[in-house]
Amino acid sequence: MQPFRYTSPRSAQEAVTTFANAGRGARFIAGGTALYDLMKLDVEHPGHLIDITAIEGLNRIDTGGEHLRFEALALMSAVAADSVVARDYPVLAEALLKAASQQIRNMATVGGNLLQKTRCMYFRNGANGVYPCNKREPGSGCAAIGGLDRGQAILGASGSCTAVSPGDWPVALLAMDASLEILGPQGSRTLPVGDLYRLPGDTPHLEFTLEPGEMITAIVVPKTPAGRRSTYHKIRDRESYAFALASAAVALEMDDGVVRKARIALGGVATRPWRAVEAEQALTGKRLTPDVALAAGHAAFNEARPGRHNGFKVELGARTVGDALLIASERNRT
Ligand code: SF4
Repeated sequence: MQPFRYTSPRSAQEAVTTFANAGRGARFIAGGTALYDLMKLDVEHPGHLIDITAIEGLNRIDTGGEHLRFEALALMSAVAADSVVARDYPVLAEALLKAASQQIRNMATVGGNLLQKTRCMYFRNGANGVYPCNKREPGSGCAAIGGLDRGQAILGASGSCTAVSPGDWPVALLAMDASLEILGPQGSRTLPVGDLYRLPGDTPHLEFTLEPGEMITAIVVPKTPAGRRSTYHKIRDRESYAFALASAAVALEMDDGVVRKARIALGGVATRPWRAVEAEQALTGKRLTPDVALAAGHAAFNEARPGRHNGFKVELGARTVGDALLIASERNRT
């Protein structure tokens, strides 16, 4: 047991101030479904937990305005069950429902979900010090490169780290051009969700662009009719509650079978939630046939760089995108 301090602030501003005064080793905690796990694995060693779950009003869901707005402490289960989200934005509801069991969705928050750590087994299994991991211990090396890399990234990897970004929800939010409201010691700011995630480069231990003491307070999703023609398609080793081998979040604007605009983001294959711009461009103005959908899927992986055991993800990922496009195109038919 590693001792740590525990504080439960009553407002977001108090939480940020507490963090600023806490020094090194401070962590915000909400549902705890990720951080407790890593503490038990001896990967995370926070010196001060700042529990933000007692902050009133930071769990509101507002789908009635110009945007969808989910405050950071809204539960994954509550957002997935919201009637507007479920009806008009299936890509969001499906990403949440496929992410975790009901028990975890009842604890985990939509803000905390954005900050999950990788499932790279060398990162998580490093407490005994056998496996080097640049993300856990900067400069120590990477056991996955040249090791067992079946689950590793084929997009966005570096010579220092190939770990996959694990989330489903961020992938769906990226496809929907969501942005984040952030509060920190310097005040508040807004950030496109894709800009939250860094590529590993030479510093894979720096995963997010949040400054020390900054917390996500809300997620804002622009409303769009493309939401009704959307899906989150997730392929995994087993059907229930596993992390993605490949996933695709897709939303389409179509006119008489022709794609006017496509939004595609990938999960399970890249070091951060990955917008598939080439695939989007390959579809624009085309009639969506199975061949066109699969060709767009292949375009999404033009830059893929597989390792020793994960080459299968190229074709799997392309087919995941192709299938997602066909599923989405069948929705909201009038
Ligand atoms: Fe660590 Fe990244 Fe290498 Fe995994 S891939 S062992 S997380 S440095």
